[in-house]
Amino acid sequence: MIKKGIAASKGYAIGTVFIQEHEEIVITDKKVEDIAAEKENLKKALEASRVQLEAIKAKAVESMGAEKAEVFEAHITLLDDPEFTGAMELEVDSNSINAMKAVENVTNTFVMIFESMEDAYMRERAADIKDVSKRIIANLAGKGGEGFAITEENTVVVAHDLTPSDTAQLDRSKVVGFITNIGGRTSHAAIMARTLEIPAVLGLGDITKAVKTGDKVIVDGITGDVIINPSAEVLAEYEAKKEKFRAEQEELKKLIDVKTVTKAGKRVEVCGNIGKAADVDQVLANGGDGVGLFRTEFLYMDRDQAPTEDEQYDSYKYVLEKMEGKQVVIRTLDIGGDKTLPYLPLPEEMNPFLGYRAIRLCLDRKEIFKVQLRALLRASVYGNLCVMFPMISGLEEFLQAKEVVEECKAELKAEGKEYSEKIQWGIMVEIPAAAVYADELAKHVDFFSIGTNDLIQYTLAADRMSEKVSYLYNPMHPAVLRLIKMTIDGAHSQGKWVGMCGEMAGDETAIPTLVEYGLDEFSMSATSILNAKKIIMEQ
Ligand code: PEP
Ligand code: MG
Repeated sequence: MIKKGIAASKGYAIGTVFIQEHEEIVITDKKVEDIAAEKENLKKALEASRVQLEAIKAKAVESMGAEKAEVFEAHITLLDDPEFTGAMELEVDSNSINAMKAVENVTNTFVMIFESMEDAYMRERAADIKDVSKRIIANLAGKGGEGFAITEENTVVVAHDLTPSDTAQLDRSKVVGFITNIGGRTSHAAIMARTLEIPAVLGLGDITKAVKTGDKVIVDGITGDVIINPSAEVLAEYEAKKEKFRAEQEELKKLIDVKTVTKAGKRVEVCGNIGKAADVDQVLANGGDGVGLFRTEFLYMDRDQAPTEDEQYDSYKYVLEKMEGKQVVIRTLDIGGDKTLPYLPLPEEMNPFLGYRAIRLCLDRKEIFKVQLRALLRASVYGNLCVMFPMISGLEEFLQAKEVVEECKAELKAEGKEYSEKIQWGIMVEIPAAAVYADELAKHVDFFSIGTNDLIQYTLAADRMSEKVSYLYNPMHPAVLRLIKMTIDGAHSQGKWVGMCGEMAGDETAIPTLVEYGLDEFSMSATSILNAKKIIMEQ
């Protein structure tokens, strides 16, 4: 029997079914008499949940890297959210509701809100809330902290849904694939499967009913097919496919230390995008030639105040030292638009993506900008640093930003602090005006990096966050391609190099065109680097 679902993580798995079921916990409406004792129970369950989540997070950092493990930080934060756990306590307190029921009630309200949101990503976040809630309830029932023990090799885990914590606990040496009833390509289960490189097919409807523990299944993470108890013939066919895929992946690994050169003999740099200093490890493990984009705004997020000059200096120095002389492109603070900071209130705007953000904000709030520039300058002596400014629309902004840099240099000099004179200063080309004006801008900058995520939305007037107009958001639109070509030609006319750090740089279908246009550097998520290298070398 063949079932069709959503191919969520590439590869083939052939194994034996293990149905993962969370033990049913019965929740009643029973009122409690001793409210203080029930509140204490809730408090203990929340604490136990926190301890478990900290442990899962530590394990996830090891197996998946810091960025992917951040989902558990979000879970831990939920435990502190007064609107979430505070509301649970209030339910117990004011309505004498038992703690489990209180958790269930509050969770249902939250899940309803998230599930009715238009944005697919936000809808998926309902799964996080359910995951945390399940954990609190299990702890209240005295059944928390139990993972599911898989003892057999070649196991395919079958579940209704795999929560992020389930996924993080999968024993990579035994689990070869997983399949679920619900979930899609943007669900955490999918993202984690891709990071762990475990083939997965999600959203199969009723797969938990269609199979039983002990059945043999084939998981085709490329087409989304799941074949239950296959014939010997089909099995042999898939054994061959699996072997071919494995060999291809092995082949890709051989490219880790290979320099990327096109058939025409052009050397191209393939780099990684990072959000935190620790992410450089994955870039290096995947053979990245450098860091093409460090989104420094992540250093400013999830905290109560902006990072100090020394904190930022430590992060930049760490990355530069780890990269051992390989090029590191650090982007200055790109806040505003969809990224906000709790300690930096921004004015309400009708169109925040067209408003007070990125370089506009930094030039207006020089005291914030200078902290970062000083940290960058001081760190520059530890490696090969390129700094770029986001959202540049014309020459004036770049020149003004450079003036602030000069101010910082003068200050550091007076303080007897060192910086390198070899820093390259560039801009992100993500506003169509900058692309059209590239040949002039190129006379002043050292390099460009094309930010297609924004460039596409501004060129086609199609909000990158809106599902409704996502059909318009097309990287291969001829107008977008013309702007990219203009940018590359403009830079080359002045002997400057051009990179691309938007998602398009790792898009298999776009890479051949970008190579043809003469793009010098591609920067993408670390796990896409090897495949991109292969495709570039075939052009
Ligand atoms: C871009 O706009 O393409 C880009 C890389 O920046 P961000 O996605 O952070 O806006
Ligand atoms: Mg951008």
